[in-house]
Amino acid sequence: MNDHFNNIEVAFRYRSDKELKMSKMLFSIIDSSVITKMGIAFTRTSIALGLPLNAIFKKTLFRQFCGGTTLGEAGTTAGKLRQYKVHSILDYGVEGKETEAEFEKTTNNLMDAAAYAASNKIPFISMKVTGIARFSLLEKVHQKIPLSTIEEQEWELIKTRMDAICSKAATLGVMVLIDAEETWIQDAVNIITDDMMLKYNQSKPIVFNTFQLYCSGTLAFLQQSHEEAKAKGYILGAKLVRGAYMEKEQARAYKNNYPDPIQKDKLSTDKDFDAAVRYCLENISEIGLFIGTHNETSCSLAVASMQALNIPADHPHIFFSQLYGMSDHISFNLANSGYNVAKYLPYGPVQDVIPYLLRRAEENSSIAGQSNRELALIKRELTRRSLVHSNA
Ligand SMILES: Cc1cc2nc3c(=O)[nH]c(=O)nc-3n(C[C@H](O)[C@H](O)[C@H](O)COP(=O)(O)OP(=O)(O)OC[C@H]3O[C@@H](n4cnc5c(N)ncnc54)[C@H](O)[C@@H]3O)c2cc1C
Repeated sequence: MNDHFNNIEVAFRYRSDKELKMSKMLFSIIDSSVITKMGIAFTRTSIALGLPLNAIFKKTLFRQFCGGTTLGEAGTTAGKLRQYKVHSILDYGVEGKETEAEFEKTTNNLMDAAAYAASNKIPFISMKVTGIARFSLLEKVHQKIPLSTIEEQEWELIKTRMDAICSKAATLGVMVLIDAEETWIQDAVNIITDDMMLKYNQSKPIVFNTFQLYCSGTLAFLQQSHEEAKAKGYILGAKLVRGAYMEKEQARAYKNNYPDPIQKDKLSTDKDFDAAVRYCLENISEIGLFIGTHNETSCSLAVASMQALNIPADHPHIFFSQLYGMSDHISFNLANSGYNVAKYLPYGPVQDVIPYLLRRAEENSSIAGQSNRELALIKRELTRRSLVHSNA
């Protein structure tokens, strides 16, 4: 393990023995990809049949990866993290909705989240455009297919919703992260997000677009977005991630016979991710940089670049981020060394965050060594604690 993140006592001091034992059990289960695949298939079938699974989820995956079912519960979790200088991002975990009533509800919830964040020292909220807009309309805008009059009105309404959220957040000084989703709607997301950055990022980064470096063209797109921001006189908000939808992207490209947008291998993604971090750091007065990764090497390289460029650890334009319930050894050790760190803290009714939880289970089980790494760290900390207790 990288030296920067080696202090497991720091990493887990916000978790009780009981919580850590629960995490150990959970990661031991997720570690088996066969059991995880069976569990996910069972969950999807149960949801389709309308079987109640909330109670099981609430005690297991939800507790590990979510901040709570309500804003208040998420706020309590955020307060706990803040004791160790780790900030939070209120992530209203609802996605993939389809009706106007649901879009309005999500918009109101996001505005409430911005207000709650402002009065509880929480620096960010995050959102998915598919929480406030119909997927198929976004697809049409992405493909530049002419919209009907009704669709034009719907598109304007989406922009109005987005503006209501960002304007409220900007007034309150809360930053808004716009998540990246599937590439076949991403141009529509970019159009709306660029409009918001132009409007609200005049003096500091408030709105952040997300750049998925697993796509071959994204590094160039990041540089182009920076040039555009400079030309129009605003600060680019750049949230950098590798990308979460690789299998789905590749399957769709194969099925519809178009070039796969994903890089040719993992190394190429890693190279572009680290180059993107470096590019943003070199232009840090013009870019708000949000480094969303669980990759130790990328975090270490970012730290080394900051030191080489004489950028202070707590530069207000730079945040490191990991998801709640994952890679605490990175988050808490970085925060302990004075870097700005924020955890993505999903919250919402259990049934609404199930898609998010299934992605976490899948990701932990499929990414080489991810759950294994978590498990090894948790076991080490439990052993350390039992030695301390027995020597006391
Ligand atoms: C705070 C935070 C916010 C996030 N927000 C978003 C978001 O808005 N949108 C989104 O899509 N994802 C998001 N993610 C998920 C992210 O994109 C990654 O899927 C996840 O973090 C794993 O990548 P990594 O950098 O942590 O680590 P690693 O384990 O080093 O990288 C794994 C990733 O590398 C890439 N990869 C793996 N194999 C290959 C291959 N053969 N060829 C090319 N690339 C490959 C994939 O992107 C894979 O997820 C977020 C993650 C974090 C921590």
